Amino acid sequence: MTDYEIRRVTVGTLSTNCYIIANKETGDACVIDPGDNLTLIQDALHRMKAHCRLILLTHGHFDHILAVGDLRSERAPVCIHRADAHCLTERDMFSPLIPYDPRPFEEADYVFDKEGSYTVAGFTFYVLHTPGHTKGSVCYQFDDNLFTGDTLFKGGIGTLDFGGDADDMRASLQMLCKLPCDYTVYPGHDEKTTLSDEIATNPFLREFKRR
Ligand SMILES: [Zn+2]
Ligand SMILES: [Zn+2]
Repeated sequence: MTDYEIRRVTVGTLSTNCYIIANKETGDACVIDPGDNLTLIQDALHRMKAHCRLILLTHGHFDHILAVGDLRSERAPVCIHRADAHCLTERDMFSPLIPYDPRPFEEADYVFDKEGSYTVAGFTFYVLHTPGHTKGSVCYQFDDNLFTGDTLFKGGIGTLDFGGDADDMRASLQMLCKLPCDYTVYPGHDEKTTLSDEIATNPFLREFKRR
């Protein structure tokens, strides 16, 4: 099995977690949610002796995508769920808050329409569609690691205030609780955790606990 190194870089005004998953043999890296601070992300890649070959977005909020345009110039394809793909090309309610908006404003290279296993740029991963925080929120599963974006946090869940839907969120959380395995959870904000710990202690998952 390929050996990967996972590193977190916390970026931007909302302290968003950007994750780098690097193949230790080849140095090929997948960057999840390059939300700002391109130089911090590039420094981390450099220290890992890695090069960005793929950009995966858990959803389209500005704090997860601001550095996509610049990072993409390394010719890494950008992937996002279809329901959030418009966030890459449209100005939105957040635009006036950002003095210099270096967003991509270019379409994604690859758009996920449905849940399943995908291989892009040499990386194989599973896409779980988990709407709720946004319509196009997804979780990415790499082996026993689950990158949950703003769907699931340690002890919390993402807000519904910016394009969210409570019924969708409920269904997505219930689906995560029914996953057959345990995973290390890498959320879009705050510290990592495990799915089993969240099922045991996260108040937002209490109703889905198996009795
Ligand atoms: Zn968000
Ligand atoms: Zn966020």
